[in-house]
Parts: sequence; structure tokens; C-alpha cells
Amino acid sequence: MRILIVEDEKSLAGLMEQTLKQHGYAANVVHNLADARAALTQPFDAIISDRRLPDGDGLDLVKELRTQGNGVPILMLTALGMPKDRVTGLEAGADDYLGKPFSLFELIARIKALLRRTAGAKGLQLEAGNVVLDTLHDTVKIAGKSALFGKREVVLLRHLLQRAGEVVGKDVLEQALYGNTNKEEGGDSRNALEVAIHRLRKLLETNQASLEIITVRGVGYMADEIKAA
Ligand code: CA
Repeated sequence: MRILIVEDEKSLAGLMEQTLKQHGYAANVVHNLADARAALTQPFDAIISDRRLPDGDGLDLVKELRTQGNGVPILMLTALGMPKDRVTGLEAGADDYLGKPFSLFELIARIKALLRRTAGAKGLQLEAGNVVLDTLHDTVKIAGKSALFGKREVVLLRHLLQRAGEVVGKDVLEQALYGNTNKEEGGDSRNALEVAIHRLRKLLETNQASLEIITVRGVGYMADEIKAA
């Protein structure tokens, strides 16, 4: 799940990026419309965009995308208490509005709701081997059966499945699990990551998953399908 953040207030953009990553989303940040247009040559699952940007109105980006037939879900950020802005935004094709200042909890709730709404019947699932992760409800099925996974294991699994067959860096996984607030306790969190990976492996094994977590020494971990012999 990759989300583009278009916001010129750099500290706010950074906070949003960090929060999204902690919730298992991949996020890219740009600070103006020109960079947003360049970034959008790649597909995104959702866009969060400010309106007042240094090189124009975020609403113009919405209009452009809709004109091109691009239906990517868009959450607009705007100054609070401007119902008129809200209406013009929705008319231009934005899917939802969040007034500034907002809480990061609400941002995540809105993004989840937006993705759920726009996903429709197709659902949002990550799959590898016989493992299916429903990213909206954070539930795991292995070989068609529900498996009970802890919150941390789900977050790890989500990151690993998003890039199945590729190495995901330890720092990325640590950040996803613990944020980067405990820099001084780096040693502890590293150990904690290993413990969480161990638990994830156990869960996969117990549930007879055809998926394994491979350790790439000094770099990170990789989820890979176990091919039948
Ligand atoms: Ca702005």
C-alpha cells in the first residue's frame, strides 16, 4: 500500500509519513505540485494533498487526475471551517476532506476508511504462497483458514509481503514496529525485532504456511514462498 503525501509544511509532511509507515503503509513525500506530477508516473494507492502549495492549488492536481481517468483515492487537507472549500474540493473529484489542524489518529482512520470504500469488492489483500493478509482488517489466512496473529507480527508480515521476494531492511522493519523515537535504545529494539521475527516464523510454521522468512545477514529479512519439493 503506497501513499503519496503532497504537503509543503515539511514538519507536518514528515509526521504524516512517519505515522503512515508505522501503520504499515509505504509513503512518499513531495512538497509541491511539480514533484507530485513527477511522482505520479508511478502508481499510488492513495494521495493525501494539501491545497495551498508553493506552485499552485492541490485541487488542480485532483482535476488533472480525474480528467485523465485516474480514480486514485484522494484525501484533501484544508484549513478548518471552510465549508465552501470542502464542496469545491469534492466537486473537483477529491474523495474526502480533513481540516487542519487534525490528529494523526484521524488521518489514519480516514485513510483506512478511504481505502476500504474505494477498494469495493476487490478487497485489499497481500498474498504469497498460501498466506493471505487482509490489509484493511489486519487479519491473516493460511491455506484458507483464519490464523491468529499478534499486532506486531501483522505489521512485520505486511511489510515483508509488500515486497515478497525482496530483502526488507532491518531499519525499515524496526521503524515500522517501534517508530524512531528510541534511537538510544537501538540495541534493545534490534533484539526486539529478532524476537518479533522469531514469533512470526513460529506462527507461519505452526499454521503450515508455504512461506518462510529468510535472514539476510547484516541487511534484513525476506519473505519467500516455499516451493513444493
Ligand atoms: Ca500549504
